[in-house]
Amino acid sequence: MDTGSIILAGATASLIAGLATVVGAIPLLGLRRPTEEQQNLLLGFAAGVMLAASFFSLIIPAIEVARNQGAGRIAASGQVVAAVLLGALAIAELNRRLPPLDRLGLGPPGIAASASIRRIWLLVAAITLHNFPEGMAVGVSFGGGDFEQGRMTALGIGLQNMPEGLAIAVALMTVGYSRRKAILAALASGLVEPVAGLIGVSIVTAAQAFLPWGLGLAAGAMIYVVAADIIPDAHARIAGGGRLGSGLMTGLAAMMFLDTIFG
Ligand SMILES: [Zn+2]
Repeated sequence: MDTGSIILAGATASLIAGLATVVGAIPLLGLRRPTEEQQNLLLGFAAGVMLAASFFSLIIPAIEVARNQGAGRIAASGQVVAAVLLGALAIAELNRRLPPLDRLGLGPPGIAASASIRRIWLLVAAITLHNFPEGMAVGVSFGGGDFEQGRMTALGIGLQNMPEGLAIAVALMTVGYSRRKAILAALASGLVEPVAGLIGVSIVTAAQAFLPWGLGLAAGAMIYVVAADIIPDAHARIAGGGRLGSGLMTGLAAMMFLDTIFG
């Protein structure tokens, strides 16, 4: 197999996997502006998707990659634990330093609305960031020249990108963005994958060394956003969270299923 066709295959597969993100957001075209109650259900769904994705498509694969590179059990787990904590710290710092958006003239006036929008953009940023190591993983799996392995990785990642795209789009709709803008944001987030895929397939060895860190950092960021932003935000809308819990469990179950059937 020549290098050119390997790179082409890796780039194409990660592009298709990335485009699945916007496919997942398309059902939203049929939805009008959701009520507060529905918003919490949808935010819960997004939170559940992010939690399951963090463990099943980021943390567990990160430990596996580290082990395959020859790290022992303790070293592999320790490395990924460190990456998860660093990812959480980084997003916490970002959370703390971002000024309220209305002060920047971005969000609508009013602290509550602006805090909510800021949280939603952190969610979008966390999901977008995690698409980077994921796209890289697709590229790396093609980089070895084993297309069967590459296709399975791309399929698995593509499938779990659908609920993630939906999560991004519904979250943006809950703070008043139009359906069109919400779906475009899901598309933009997915397009990170072919870029990362191209890098992964081109520099397999270096990308492989980065993967346990990249996947772990992304997981830490996503878990932190769920715990520190999405859940408190839902509780601020409706005391007790309303249907947040049912949404969370539905998203978690759907994502867990998608993430593990190709394990
Ligand atoms: Zn994902």
